[in-house]
Amino acid sequence: MLIDKKTDFDKDKLTFSEDQGFTIREAIAEAKRCLNCPRPLCRTGCPIDNDIPGFVSCVAQGNFGQASKIIAQRSSLPAVCGRVCPHEKQCEAHCVMTKQQKGIRIGKLERFVADFESDMEVDRITPTQATKGSVAVIGSGPAGLTVAGDLAKAGFAVTVFEGQNEPGGVLLYGIPAFRLNKDVVRREIDRLKQLGILFETNVLVGQDITADQIFDRGFDAIFIGTGTALPRTLEVPGKDLPGVVQATYFLSMVALAAGGNLDQKEVPVAKGDRVVVIGAGNVAIDAARTALRLGAQRVTIVYRRTQTEMPALQSEYEQAVAEGVQFEWLASPTAFTGGERVRGVEYELQKIDANGKPTPSCQLRILPADKVIMAVGQRPAARIVSTTTGIDVNENGYVITKERPYGMTTRRGVFAGGDVVHEPATVVLAMKEAKKAAAGIASYIEAKKLLDDCEPVPASGDPAQAQ
Ligand SMILES: Cc1cc2nc3c(=O)[nH]c(=O)nc-3n(C[C@H](O)[C@H](O)[C@H](O)COP(=O)(O)OP(=O)(O)OC[C@H]3O[C@@H](n4cnc5c(N)ncnc54)[C@H](O)[C@@H]3O)c2cc1C
Repeated sequence: MLIDKKTDFDKDKLTFSEDQGFTIREAIAEAKRCLNCPRPLCRTGCPIDNDIPGFVSCVAQGNFGQASKIIAQRSSLPAVCGRVCPHEKQCEAHCVMTKQQKGIRIGKLERFVADFESDMEVDRITPTQATKGSVAVIGSGPAGLTVAGDLAKAGFAVTVFEGQNEPGGVLLYGIPAFRLNKDVVRREIDRLKQLGILFETNVLVGQDITADQIFDRGFDAIFIGTGTALPRTLEVPGKDLPGVVQATYFLSMVALAAGGNLDQKEVPVAKGDRVVVIGAGNVAIDAARTALRLGAQRVTIVYRRTQTEMPALQSEYEQAVAEGVQFEWLASPTAFTGGERVRGVEYELQKIDANGKPTPSCQLRILPADKVIMAVGQRPAARIVSTTTGIDVNENGYVITKERPYGMTTRRGVFAGGDVVHEPATVVLAMKEAKKAAAGIASYIEAKKLLDDCEPVPASGDPAQAQ
């Protein structure tokens, strides 16, 4: 194996290794720093209300099995959350010790507990009796997996339909392996399988089967957790030139090649390429850092606003800078230049107006580029809503849902959650919404079955006639 130490890149297998977690000694020492606050603010910073003080205190005592049980009460994806949640904006931001410069590394502790649990197989998973009804979940990203896990634990039979050849969604085909090891994702999914959840992969709902046909199979409810599959584009000249690719497509090609499911030559960035990435969100940063790891000669992120307006996490930005990614701020792309293929990105410098807003300066620049990666956002595909009736979406294609029962769409029995409802966000926000939708589905099915069990009320209102 040929590992490039600087980039943690295995050139033979096109894989990247992630950074190291805590050792046992480090985890206990870190957990012992917790002050056990009477009013633990860290917990209020967690979108899914994890009992952070509870599990941290168990880690401090060396009771990792109990720590894992506590986390499992709220999360089916702790090893994932421990790695990719924006802790610096959530639980860790609320830790009182953060104000004194050194907050508890809650994310890394969660990761330690989840990894310890699955390495040691501390807790044997036993499936709950599935007696309460059956639910079809479409999509196996964080939203779908969370609904599936919560409902399986609550006694429902769950089948997940996934369009890709393997479950995991963005966790598997989006977030790069140097931040989220794919074996960790597979391990979390295996634990869900042990709960009795069935997975039907390579089934694209809306193409291979419709929502109505899923109901015909006897499911009581359907959950749509299909994320935002369609990338947005920039309407500028040259956007269709060869060499211009979408970030999500690029990252999924890298993941497929790393998994041996695609020839490495198909990966759109090659050694020596000069790469320009458009956009400055976390997807753009992931694409830029991945391009560097593939041996790109130079990677530049071009963003139309200022550094302070950049949507990416500060920690992600800092790591990108440390690795050599360059940034052009206040640079608004106006065209992708070239003939048979892309040769450069033309952009207009922006100046800040009296209201502090970027405005065109009429100064054009060209940045040479062999490859351009666009990371300017995504939106939902209409495959499911266009092949069935009654599921309303808003003007941008996001599925409209109700508060009661939580997560139900305008079609009875069809629920939705995650990015397909609330726009591209984070893993834990998709999980938060999915948890609420799972509770909505459970109460809907319970109410439906109760009504089905009721004897019909006689038309005359005379109970004797019902005998
Ligand atoms: C490159 C990248 C990096 C990111 N990094 C982070 C990060 O570090 N931290 C963080 O918190 N968030 C991150 N995010 C955002 C986060 O991954 C998403 O918010 C989250 O995955 C949304 O979950 P979801 O379940 O709603 O959708 P998805 O994860 O998109 O899952 C949708 C699933 O539905 C499947 N599907 C779609 N249509 C159909 C259909 N018709 N039939 C069957 N299956 C279908 C898809 O194949 C997919 O498996 C990142 C996103 C990207 C793209």
